Amino acid sequence: ADFREADLNRVVHDTAFLMRRPCERGEVFLSVEDQPIPPFKIDPEKIKQALINIIRNAQEALPQGGRITIATFARGDLALIEIGDDGPGIDPEDLPLIFEPFFTRKGAGTGLGLSITQRIVEEHRGRISVKSDSGSGTLFSIELPMMGRET
Ligand code: ADP
Ligand code: MG
Repeated sequence: ADFREADLNRVVHDTAFLMRRPCERGEVFLSVEDQPIPPFKIDPEKIKQALINIIRNAQEALPQGGRITIATFARGDLALIEIGDDGPGIDPEDLPLIFEPFFTRKGAGTGLGLSITQRIVEEHRGRISVKSDSGSGTLFSIELPMMGRET
C-alpha cells in the first residue's frame, strides 16, 4: 500500500471525472457535493478503486435518468464519503451478503467489487456500511479515521 498525505476530495473528484463517461453512456447523472476535509494519510489509488466499485454497481442498477450523488464531509476525526443512488435498492435478505466475495445477483457478475472495496476501507482502518430499501435506493457510507495511520 502507498499511504501518503492526500486530499480526499481531489481523489473523489478524479474518480467522478473518470466515471462520467460511463455515466453519460447510460444516461445516469453523477454529482459530487464536497465539504472541506483536511489532508490525511490515504492510498489514493486504492480509494479510487474502492469508489469505482460502488459507483459502477450504482450505474449497473440504475435505469435511464437515475442519479448518483457523492457527498464528502468531515465529522470529528472521521472523513466521510457517502455514495447514494435512487435505483431499485437491495433486497433486505441480500444486505448481509453483499460484501462477501463472490456474492452476486448478476448473470455475469464476479461478486468481487464490494469485497475489494471493504478490504480497502479496512486497510485504512475505516468502516463501510450500507442502507437500502427495495424501491427507494441505496446509500453506502465510508468512514475513514483521519488519524488512522498515525501512532
Ligand atoms: P457484482 O457487481 O459483480 O455483482 P459486487 O460485490 O460489486 O459484485 O456487488 C454485489 C451485489 O450487491 C450485486 O450483485 C448487487 O446485487 C448488489 N448491489 C451492490 N450495489 C448495488 C446498488 N447500488 N443497487 C442495487 N444493488 C446493488
Ligand atoms: Mg460490482
